[in-house]
Amino acid sequence: MSDCIFCKIVNGEIPSETVYNGPHVTAFRDINPVAPVHVLIVPNRHIDDIRDPRAFEDDILTEMFDAANKVAEMEGVAGSGYRLLINYGPDANLVVPHLHLHLIGGRPLGPMVSRRK
Ligand code: AMP
Ligand code: ZN
Repeated sequence: MSDCIFCKIVNGEIPSETVYNGPHVTAFRDINPVAPVHVLIVPNRHIDDIRDPRAFEDDILTEMFDAANKVAEMEGVAGSGYRLLINYGPDANLVVPHLHLHLIGGRPLGPMVSRRK
């Protein structure tokens, strides 16, 4: 998609720190990390979000989660643990409408979701 920031990253039109390339996915460092390790894993082709039926085609999700396992090993957090996160919609604060899996780790992350209202 021409005006999609993650499509531009995948196509090399916007710089990013890529940490892993799979056949159909790319993993790069989040520009505003919330932890020492914060990597985004995205499909190379544009898919809007986790409710987009294209996410369930061609083993895209399988490849994304397989890439997450590899990135966790490469980033040294496979033993210490990490969090995998997909946001959807306003309540989850989805900002970039190109499917992405957050891999977050490198420090104790605390409870999964804040109990603050
Ligand atoms: P989400 O709230 O799930 O849509 O998360 C989008 C993520 O994309 C945020 O954590 C941003 O910091 C990250 N992000 C936005 N622009 C860039 C960029 N140019 N390079 C790397 N990460 C980005
Ligand atoms: Zn895109």
